Amino acid sequence: MSLFFYLSVFLTFTHFKYLLTGHLKMNLAQNDTSSCIFYIFVLITIYRIMEQFRKHLTAHDIKPSLQRMMIYEYLYKNHNHPTADDIYSALAPSIPTLSKTTVYNTLKLFVTNGVAIVLNIEGNELRYDADTSVHGHFKCKGCGNLFDIKITTPPDIEGIEGFQVDEYQINLKGYCKICKKTEK
Ligand SMILES: [Zn+2]
Ligand SMILES: [Zn+2]
Repeated sequence: MSLFFYLSVFLTFTHFKYLLTGHLKMNLAQNDTSSCIFYIFVLITIYRIMEQFRKHLTAHDIKPSLQRMMIYEYLYKNHNHPTADDIYSALAPSIPTLSKTTVYNTLKLFVTNGVAIVLNIEGNELRYDADTSVHGHFKCKGCGNLFDIKITTPPDIEGIEGFQVDEYQINLKGYCKICKKTEK
């Protein structure tokens, strides 16, 4: 994987682009040498993160294309369990060639190959999570946010003797700390 690949990944990150644009303007005015060190530092950091993502996807038999890397990066950084539409809306401005179908297919591949889990908390809505460790979720009926919750002891489940359990999800619903205050 060439450095150019990571440079292109790097350039498509809107947040870093804005950060650099701001920094560039500042440094053009100041004309100091710290800008060079800053760019190198940011580049190395991004390179190392992307390299970890690339290895992770490859280890799960997923060919790390640019779009897949960016979808995984988004999922990894956004712990709010986004839907496919959320991911598409967030990435489309940075990747003009991205289609909704690509996002859906990529997420499906991520789930099948074990780098993400899919959650069906309400209705037909599917939400995705890059955290594949055993954990539960709390859906707030006020703000609609989905929070991760830790599960330390497996619950006692009766009546499934002889059954084959393929999936295991613990979903709680209620009001989060902030919404509880405003709820009457
Ligand atoms: Zn809430
Ligand atoms: Zn989660």
